[in-house]
Amino acid sequence: MKTIAIIGAGPAGLMAAEMLSQSNFHVTVYDAMPSAGRKFLMAGKGGMNISHAEDFSTFVSRYGSRQTNLAPYLNAFTPTDLREWLSDLGIETFVGSSGRIFPKEMKAAPLLRAWLQRLRANGVQFSMRHRWLGWQNNDTKKWVFDTPNGEKIVTADAVILALGGGSWARLGSTGEWVSILREQSVKVETLQPSNCGFNVAWRDYFKQRFAGQPLKNVRVHFNDFQQKGEIMITEHGIEGGLIYAASSRIRDEIVKNGTATIHLDLFPDKTTEALMARLNQPRGKSSTAQFWRKQLGLDGVKAGLVREILDVDALNSVELVCQTLKALSLRLLAPRPIDEAISSAGGVSFTALNGDLKCEQLTNVFCAGEMLDWEAPTGGYLLTACLATGRAAGLGVLNWLESGEILRPEAESNH
Ligand SMILES: Cc1cc2nc3c(=O)[nH]c(=O)nc-3n(C[C@H](O)[C@H](O)[C@H](O)COP(=O)(O)OP(=O)(O)OC[C@H]3O[C@@H](n4cnc5c(N)ncnc54)[C@H](O)[C@@H]3O)c2cc1C
Repeated sequence: MKTIAIIGAGPAGLMAAEMLSQSNFHVTVYDAMPSAGRKFLMAGKGGMNISHAEDFSTFVSRYGSRQTNLAPYLNAFTPTDLREWLSDLGIETFVGSSGRIFPKEMKAAPLLRAWLQRLRANGVQFSMRHRWLGWQNNDTKKWVFDTPNGEKIVTADAVILALGGGSWARLGSTGEWVSILREQSVKVETLQPSNCGFNVAWRDYFKQRFAGQPLKNVRVHFNDFQQKGEIMITEHGIEGGLIYAASSRIRDEIVKNGTATIHLDLFPDKTTEALMARLNQPRGKSSTAQFWRKQLGLDGVKAGLVREILDVDALNSVELVCQTLKALSLRLLAPRPIDEAISSAGGVSFTALNGDLKCEQLTNVFCAGEMLDWEAPTGGYLLTACLATGRAAGLGVLNWLESGEILRPEAESNH
């Protein structure tokens, strides 16, 4: 029987396994961690957003400069297909008011449980605590794993790599595969943080007082990006959904120019004139803080931020204060480290793969999931593309094994 090794038991690897599970092949999923789908489970904390129900062309456009590369896989596994697939697994979904798709139970655990059960029932084997280290003596037929019983050499007719990106290494995706593949001349773009926070040089008082507090109902302007939402102030700078949405643009600008300046509208529902009319009222004996609160409801972290940005003289100018409230300039110095990011950009270049996601450089190796060179905002786009590319790699292996020349299977051996 032909053997297939899938390395990485995240959503991409498991979906690849699913495509091969009812074939006449022997499928084994290897993973470095003690259990499957750790990041998938983390994604389910606080509500698993697995896809998005917006118009399909808008959906595909969320993958930015890689939309053309990903479109064939997303076309073959659309958000509607994803919902049907989940329904087959016994997981019902719903579309939230924002168009985001969630499992009804909001959690990843019941889904993962049902999925693993079905895969096992369909003959997929799991070898956990198997960390892939590279190849033995550069022989790409001999895959070396570190296991609790020492090093193990595995051979397989086809291998699917679904090793994830480079964030949240403690959940398994360490990005160590980058150098291993580069050594074999596979083109891999450097992993970078995506959907990440940024450093700001806060003064001590501001960060001690406001770290951990949300800036609610603000609009971020950055070049062509404009969106309303919430930002979280952190000890190091800023993060949160709204910042993640702009993060690829901000990151690229920092790479190009060293820093990036965003503008925050702290009163997106009021004009500068309306704000000025309120602050030009007689102040009487009120302090600045009392007057801001009374006239504009401006206090807490928003007021703190204005004081952080303007010097004492400027705080006395109604015009400058109101201009700042509508377009507060915040200089972002660097993305937070990749390990803190929700996802990573960069990875195996699409130019190194054929349409079935087979590596041109390696005889029998396919790649899928976040380890490919694409990025997308949060909103279910990440998981959908991981599942869609996992599916494509699984089907790619089926095609390839059924049609092409393959290596002879050899027995596994412990060393
Ligand atoms: C906090 C958080 C919240 C998220 N929320 C969402 C969300 O709501 N919606 C959404 O769409 N996405 C979300 N994501 C992103 C999503 O979880 C990932 O994009 C997705 O899990 C990537 O799938 P993958 O299968 O490509 O890789 P992973 O899920 O990272 O799986 C890769 C697997 O490969 C294994 N591995 C790596 N190297 C080796 C090796 N050398 N040997 C053996 N095994 C190895 C790892 O242990 C891991 O199990 C979130 C991510 C995080 C961190």
